Amino acid sequence: MIIVMKADILPESPETALVVQMAERYPDVHAEVRKIQGATRVLTEVYLLGSTGNVPVDIFEEFPAVEKAIRIRERYRSIGRHEGQAESLGFEYNGVAFTQENLHVFAGLCAVDNRTNVEVMFKALQGVGLQTARAGAYKPRTSPYDFQGYGKECLPYVFELAGKYGIKVVAMEVTSGAQVDEIFAALAASGQATGVMLQIGTRNAQNFELLKVVGQQHELPVLFKRGMGISLDESLNACEYLAASGNYKIVFCLRGMKTQYGDPHRNLVDFGHVPVVKRLTRLPVCIDPSHSVGKKAQAPDGLLDIEHATAQGVIAGANMVLVDFHPHPEEALCDGPQALLMNELVPYLRDVEIVRAAYEQRRAART
Ligand code: PEP
Ligand code: MN
Repeated sequence: MIIVMKADILPESPETALVVQMAERYPDVHAEVRKIQGATRVLTEVYLLGSTGNVPVDIFEEFPAVEKAIRIRERYRSIGRHEGQAESLGFEYNGVAFTQENLHVFAGLCAVDNRTNVEVMFKALQGVGLQTARAGAYKPRTSPYDFQGYGKECLPYVFELAGKYGIKVVAMEVTSGAQVDEIFAALAASGQATGVMLQIGTRNAQNFELLKVVGQQHELPVLFKRGMGISLDESLNACEYLAASGNYKIVFCLRGMKTQYGDPHRNLVDFGHVPVVKRLTRLPVCIDPSHSVGKKAQAPDGLLDIEHATAQGVIAGANMVLVDFHPHPEEALCDGPQALLMNELVPYLRDVEIVRAAYEQRRAART
């Protein structure tokens, strides 16, 4: 059960303490107080864990400081959207707001290769008014003989250049807790020149120990990528580990499913699940058209398959787009063939804008 306190009731207030005390009078019930950044306000929620079956909802609802008490399904206890929970779980990080309502494009290098390419990329993003980028330092590769990423070696110049070009959040994958420590150290050394969104890659979607480590730090937000070969339910349960460890700054990312039925695309585009994830959870939803489509094929209408896939996600209400660009894809050490070129950035963003406006019109037509 979740007891949602009224807007002005803080986690440390006597009213919250009273609710905890009431709840813990029931045998085998333990109460946990959580401070949650909702899309429009900070919420204090008291989670009742354990044998809550016999705890009545109405005794809590009689408290003047309680907004409502919600009996939740066991599934997705923290990230889930339970009956009566209209508020989504947005958050603000480094001055950028992430909600189920807005949209950010994170464009950039799949893998950092050299300083020049990072600089060209970030400069181009600044030129089009973007403050969010992708730049992979640690790459989980299918073969141990493939390029593994420059890791902590590249972080100083990535963060310095991000600061120089006004990039506020850089998305980058981590595959171990040690890498999270390296990122914290490099951010500190850069004088917090930028911010980082930690990516959990599809290959680590069920790496529960990594999820716990990343969830136990509450500063950096997390982009959780759906497992490519497991059910949506399994991915959402795995994502729940982050929130269960106390980190609610989560964006859930769709990136296509591994099946031969996606051929000739790299993965089967699953952006029809954007509204599904928004309905089942309170998290902002990201789409990754680059790793879904995996190639720069062009349709007869002149638009790239990657642009069509992007449009499918954005018109369904996606809140973030993670997309590969590279100044010289032939030099890229990872995923060059799917990277868009610098001169494709403006048309790409214009297309996103057109489709986002269409999504907003679709919504307005229903209200
Ligand atoms: C990536 O975004 O760099 C990546 C490896 O993606 P995924 O985990 O979805 O394959
Ligand atoms: Mn890649």
